[in-house]
Amino acid sequence: MGESEWSQTHIFLVALASRLENEGQYNIAKLTRAAADSLSRRAAYQLDMPGGKAELAAQIEQAASALSALGVTAEISSTLRQGASALSENRLPLIYETPHPYVCRTCGHLALGELAEKCPVCGAWSATFQWFPPVYWLEAFDPPAALARLRQTPLEVAGLLSGLSEEQLSQTPEDGGWALRNIVSHLRDAQGVLSFRLDLFLNEEDPALESKAVFEWATREEARAPSTLEIFDSYKALRAETLAKLEVMPCDMWWRTGRHEEFGRISLRQQVSYFAAHELTHFPQIEKLRDHFTDDMVQTEESR
Ligand SMILES: [Zn+2]
Repeated sequence: MGESEWSQTHIFLVALASRLENEGQYNIAKLTRAAADSLSRRAAYQLDMPGGKAELAAQIEQAASALSALGVTAEISSTLRQGASALSENRLPLIYETPHPYVCRTCGHLALGELAEKCPVCGAWSATFQWFPPVYWLEAFDPPAALARLRQTPLEVAGLLSGLSEEQLSQTPEDGGWALRNIVSHLRDAQGVLSFRLDLFLNEEDPALESKAVFEWATREEARAPSTLEIFDSYKALRAETLAKLEVMPCDMWWRTGRHEEFGRISLRQQVSYFAAHELTHFPQIEKLRDHFTDDMVQTEESR
């Protein structure tokens, strides 16, 4: 399919979805909207994007210029550039630098931060705009599902780690990435942030939630390195404490809010969903490392 045919199909699917929604045909609209999203993601999946910070900053600049050329609000380009400069300084842009984006579902107008009552282009109520959260993890789980997930994940991780030696758990893979030990440390660190923040939500009104570079802690080791199993046990113990607090607190506490430096105002419900969903994204990594060792075991047996 040629590029122009592709983009015509894409625009047609989105236009058809809007038309169908106006007719109240939501079940058909969801299909064309999902198909349009699938087309975009499939095409993007084929692109090889650079990973280095300087290269990414250059790509963001390219995106900002392209959006300006297409007449999209100048605010998005300047905010993208703000993000790129934070990236170049090796830090995460905070919410005051990169406010939440909203898109008018009717006309596509893009607005950032505090919204006017109505869309300046088409007059649609701004409450009907689509919010783009920084990460879907914030909205992934309702409280009952989040609790179930938080209970289940340590059990599944334990299952994946079972039978592996400390040497295997600590072995850095050939690609220089994280060992299983680093992933377990990371899960423990993230759980530590959740424990800390939960206490803030429970004890303070609208607490300030500092942004944490949890990712960078995973390869740090204290003077006497504990075994991976010990790290896992402290993760499990912290998790049990968190669950005990969440299970007994009154339901309305889930809607308490905090001021997250990076994500803006978030509820405890969103914060818990975030951590429950975050852990799942590490499963493929854990499975890949585990398979590497279990494949080795099978090979050794076969060669006997
Ligand atoms: Zn509009």
